[in-house]
Amino acid sequence: MKKFILRLMAVIIILSVAFAGYGYYEYANANPVSSPETDVLFMETALAPAQSEWNEPVLRGLVYRRFEKTDAAAERNFGAIGRSPAQLYLRLPEGFAGRLRLTTDGAVRDETLRGGDAVFDAEAGDYNLEITGDISKGQGGGYGSFTYRCSFSVEEAEPELLTGKTELAQGDIMSLKLINIPPEITPSAETSLGMAVFTPGGKGVWHAAVPVGNRQNPGSYTISVQAGDRHFETDVSVLPFDFVEQNLTIDVGDPVISEANSPEAYREYREKIPPLFETFDTERYWEGVFDAPADGRVSTEFGTIRYTNGNYANPRSHNGMDIAAPEGSPVRAPNAGRVVMAERLLNTGNTVVIEHGGGLKSYYFHMSRLDVNIGETVNKGELIGAIGTTGYSTGPHLHYEMRIGNKPVSPSMLFSESAGLYSLGVTND
Ligand SMILES: [Zn+2]
Repeated sequence: MKKFILRLMAVIIILSVAFAGYGYYEYANANPVSSPETDVLFMETALAPAQSEWNEPVLRGLVYRRFEKTDAAAERNFGAIGRSPAQLYLRLPEGFAGRLRLTTDGAVRDETLRGGDAVFDAEAGDYNLEITGDISKGQGGGYGSFTYRCSFSVEEAEPELLTGKTELAQGDIMSLKLINIPPEITPSAETSLGMAVFTPGGKGVWHAAVPVGNRQNPGSYTISVQAGDRHFETDVSVLPFDFVEQNLTIDVGDPVISEANSPEAYREYREKIPPLFETFDTERYWEGVFDAPADGRVSTEFGTIRYTNGNYANPRSHNGMDIAAPEGSPVRAPNAGRVVMAERLLNTGNTVVIEHGGGLKSYYFHMSRLDVNIGETVNKGELIGAIGTTGYSTGPHLHYEMRIGNKPVSPSMLFSESAGLYSLGVTND
């Protein structure tokens, strides 16, 4: 019996040694054969792990042999990969689960990542990218963790000048838009057409509205734009507009009319109104198509060439549009802006002037009353006054004028989306 036990023990020892020997042989000769494809594709270029650890199963997962690897050469610098806004394309190995850390300028973006394709947007900047995660082949298979590192940069987008309609009738407005302008730059424009002020829009965006006044001679004009050290030029064709002619009879003997038409009235007008032509706000308030400020019949069109009491030697241009309506009818702001005048003048009667931004202003004359005060901001549709016949006026009507700087532009064109002002869109971005 004792002998049997000894024999059994000997067999167990021999088998154990043999098994241990086999196990050791297997372990020692194990390779990370079950390791999956571990390269990440970054912008369609393979990126190998900078650090990896793979646990290879031995004896069907009874034990694991760990393989560790550090590969400094795998930490690549891709340099400039494109201009802002760039898209980063990644393809992760199948079964991957981990995180992405995108660092630029001290800001860290942390995102969850899974196997397959992933896309991220990147603004201009210098970036460090680190991807860490695990791949597991499940029960009895290998598992490991991987770290990838690379750096790259995204360049600032190229500044660009966009132009709206470049063939414009007298009275229309030329629209300009600059995009991708670095934050520290304030662009400027120069043209013989008149005032052209850039107002900031969305990120890197600036807008300008350039007048084509009703008296602008038809022909070709140039607008020069400077944005930092970048220079742009664009040509504009001014086409003639067929303005109507009108004979006006005014009873100059009427005492109210003669006061409104007096040298004193014109002196006051010159003192109050033209100085506004020089002013502008560097913020754009208007958005969307302008509404008509009042309901009623257009009794005199914009740009009408007028002869008063048969004086054909001295034609005058009607720089606004007249809207005839019953006394007291509402007058509403056609778009958002800031009230820069609200007072009664001898010639223009109860007068409101609204700055819509960048020097684009609307003028309201002859109203029966004023419903706003200077300095107030108004929204589109807000009541600003009422139809009247104050000042140099022969019946209840609103004289509605729009100007950029000193150049009168057509109010009625601005009621239609086809106006040059809207040819680059109607939102401030
Ligand atoms: Zn008028």
